[in-house]
Amino acid sequence: MTVIAAYEQRTPRSRKHFEEVAQVIPAGATRSLNAWPPHPVYLESGAGMVVTDLDGNTYHDFLANYTALPLGYADPDITRALAEQVASGTVHSFSRTGERELAELLAARVPSVDKIRFTGSGTEAVMFALRLAKAYTRRTAVAKAEGGYHGTTDEVMISVRPAANLAGDAHAPRSVPEMAGIDESRVRETIVVPFNDIESSAAILRAHSDRLAALILEPVLGVGGMIPADREYLAAMREVCDELGIVLVFDEVITLRIAPGGAQEHYGVVPDITTMGKIVGGGMPIGAYGGRADLMALLEPRGGTDVYDARSGGPVLYQGGTFTGNALSIRAGITTMSKLDAAAITDLNAKGELLRRSVTEAVAGTPVALTVTGIGSLFNLHVGVKKVHTFRDLRGIDAARQHQLFIALLNRGAIIAPRGMGCVSTCTTTEDIEFFARAVNESLIDITGEC
Ligand code: PLP
Repeated sequence: MTVIAAYEQRTPRSRKHFEEVAQVIPAGATRSLNAWPPHPVYLESGAGMVVTDLDGNTYHDFLANYTALPLGYADPDITRALAEQVASGTVHSFSRTGERELAELLAARVPSVDKIRFTGSGTEAVMFALRLAKAYTRRTAVAKAEGGYHGTTDEVMISVRPAANLAGDAHAPRSVPEMAGIDESRVRETIVVPFNDIESSAAILRAHSDRLAALILEPVLGVGGMIPADREYLAAMREVCDELGIVLVFDEVITLRIAPGGAQEHYGVVPDITTMGKIVGGGMPIGAYGGRADLMALLEPRGGTDVYDARSGGPVLYQGGTFTGNALSIRAGITTMSKLDAAAITDLNAKGELLRRSVTEAVAGTPVALTVTGIGSLFNLHVGVKKVHTFRDLRGIDAARQHQLFIALLNRGAIIAPRGMGCVSTCTTTEDIEFFARAVNESLIDITGEC
C-alpha cells in the first residue's frame, strides 16, 4: 500500500471533516500551513507530547505548535495558573501588575533588553520593532535575510521560501513577494541579504545605507530550515550596522529557547532590539519586543498619546491592541519562563542534540539522502540534500519526498512540520527520541520508490 493510501485509511473522519469544513473555511484550515494534501488531520486533544486526532489516532508531537510549547500540552502548572486567572478575568480595560513580572524576568535574561513591550503575536512584535527602528533613524527601508521568516506583514513577507528562477544571484538576491496581494511599494523598501554570506551582505547594506532603518535577522533561520548563523556572520552584521547607523534587530521568536538569554547569549552578539513570541506566552498568544533604553524611550512620548511630541513637533510613537498584555498570556508566560530556567534549557538542549545525532545515525544507510540541521532543542529534517549551510542549499530539496516523509511519519505516529521542522519539549523522553529516529528510518524506507 502506498504511504498516501495508508494515510487515507487511518484518517477517514478527518477526510470527511475536511470536506465539510472547507465549505465554510477556505482550504479547510485557518492556518494555510495546516491545509496539506490530500487532507489535513484534525487534532482533538493533547497532553505532554501526545496528541489525539479526530479518528482516535495518537501521535508524538515533535512540532509542539511550531515550537511554542516547550513544556508540552496541558502542563499542570500552566493549567492551574490559567484556571486561577480565568476566575478573575481574562483581559482587562487597564494594565495589570502581572506584566511587570514577565517584563523583569525577560529583561534580566536577554542581554539586549533594558525595556520591553508586549504584543499580541510575534508578527506584531516585528511590526512594532521595525516601526520603532524607522522612527529612531527616520529612514524608511528595512533589510532582511533571504529565507528569514518574521511573521506575516507585507514588509517581511518577502523572499521567505526558495523561489527558484525569481530570486536572482545568490550573492545579490532580489526581493520576491512571498504571496499575492503584497504591496509593490513595500517590496521596493525591503532589501534582501544572503544569510551567512558576510561580504555580500555587507556590500548590500552599504549600498542602501542612507535609507535603511533596520536589519532584521533570525540568528538561526527557523521556518527557513533551522540553519544556524555562523557566529562570524552575526558579529560582522553587528559591526556593519554600527558603522552605518542601522538598527540591528534579532528575531528570537523561535531561538529564545536555546539559552536563558536566547541566541544572542549563545552567540555573544547583542542586537539593538529583540523580538520574541511563542514560548514567552506558554501556549497563549503573545509577542514582545525589547531593547536599549534610548530606543525604547521613543515609546514614552511626552504628553502621553497626544498626536504630536512636545519636543520634536513630529508624530509620537505609540502602541496598542485590545488583547495585548491580556492576563491569560501573561500568566501562562510567567509560569513557562519561570519553569524554563537554565537547568531546564540545558536539559532541553541535550535532548535536542541526542535527537539530531540519533536521526543522523538512523538514516545513514537509507537510500534517500536526509540531512538534519538545528541547534539546541530545535531541528529540521531535509530530504534529498547532503549539506545545508546557506538558504540556497535548500533548493536541492526533493519537495515531493519531503512531503511524503511528513505523511509517512504521521502514519507512524510522529508529527513534524510539512517542511521538516521540529523540536523537543521538557516532557520528551529518551524513548520518545529513539522512537522518532526509528520512525524516520522506517518512513524513508516506506517512501523509497514511491516518487
Ligand atoms: N518571527 C519568527 C522567527 C517566527 O518563527 C514567527 C512564527 O513562526 C514569527 C516571527 C511570527 O510569530 P506569530 O506566528 O506569533 O505571529
